[in-house]
Amino acid sequence: MSGPKPLANILEITPYKGGQKLDHGWKLSSNENPLGCSPAAREALSKAAEHLEMYPDGACFALREAIGKKYGVDPDRIVCGAGSDEIFQLLGRAYLKPGDEIIQSQHGFLVYRLVAQQSGAKCISAPETELTASVDAILDRVTDKTRIVFLANPNNPTGSYIPFDEVRRLHKGLRDDILLVLDGAYAEYVRQNDYSAGMDMAGEEPNVLVTRTFSKIHGLAGLRVGWAYGPESVIDALHRVRGPFNVTSVGQAAAIAALADDSFVTKSADHNNDELDRLKPALEKMGYKVYPSVANFLLIQFEDRDGKRAEDADAFLRARGIVIRDMKAYGLPDCMRLSIGTREANDDVLAAFEAFAKAD
Ligand code: PMP
Repeated sequence: MSGPKPLANILEITPYKGGQKLDHGWKLSSNENPLGCSPAAREALSKAAEHLEMYPDGACFALREAIGKKYGVDPDRIVCGAGSDEIFQLLGRAYLKPGDEIIQSQHGFLVYRLVAQQSGAKCISAPETELTASVDAILDRVTDKTRIVFLANPNNPTGSYIPFDEVRRLHKGLRDDILLVLDGAYAEYVRQNDYSAGMDMAGEEPNVLVTRTFSKIHGLAGLRVGWAYGPESVIDALHRVRGPFNVTSVGQAAAIAALADDSFVTKSADHNNDELDRLKPALEKMGYKVYPSVANFLLIQFEDRDGKRAEDADAFLRARGIVIRDMKAYGLPDCMRLSIGTREANDDVLAAFEAFAKAD
């Protein structure tokens, strides 16, 4: 008996492996918010949990209204998903068929590739310059099969971003039947003033979609809420392929409250940026190579290219109750990604990295 067989392209997929859970110590492997979430979001969730017997609003009306108001955009041009991951899945369903191509930069977010593979489409990687997306390299790889270009800006796991002028140049170089997806999962952390999440562009252009999430700065990763804003035709297509009740009632309620709590967002961004500014130079002083980051994590590169030193560092930190993320799945075996933690966690991280540097 052989049983039902999945499609051949599905068997080619390497399942996504998230950061491991820890009973104690510091989990700094999934770019989560170390400050938790807004107390107002927690309260709204509890209230919504009084009616778990009821289906959620499938259209996420109140949440879309709240997002629209916050960003000054038309709520009818927003679709919500179970995390932005689900939005990417919906894009695959609506726009990709076998033989199609998507383009992402070389060390782009892993889920884009999974989405392509699920649809039997090909994921084309465009080489980066100094671990930063290269507009020219992306444009060079456009073919008549290209359907979607995914750009995480800032990018995970590199922490790099490209200025808005470059995003515009990328868009100008694309045919208008190619969808440009600007993934702004980490947008709220960016301080640089040449940065834009591209909301205006998604409002004006027929082929630009912005995706955002409540998982990062809002600290609601466990609830799985994300959204996309863009052209009516794209939003319409995504509504057609989404599940009837794809975002939970508690998730919608918490997200609405989180959106209204500016002080929590500001506190989270300030904490992150203070700690980025503290950790990066401290690690560099110990002799580590640390890439510039505008997000809530740092990419640390070890001197040997085969990844042995990164593996050793991983084991060394784990023995001290600190879990960070190995980068093998991203083709960066010599690197580890460290999410910014609480001040206390970061103190322990610095002590562990210092001890590792001196351990030989
Ligand atoms: N985009 C990027 C670049 C990410 O790093 C992540 C989370 N790791 C996501 C999207 C997905 O976030 P979520 O599905 O939790 O909204």
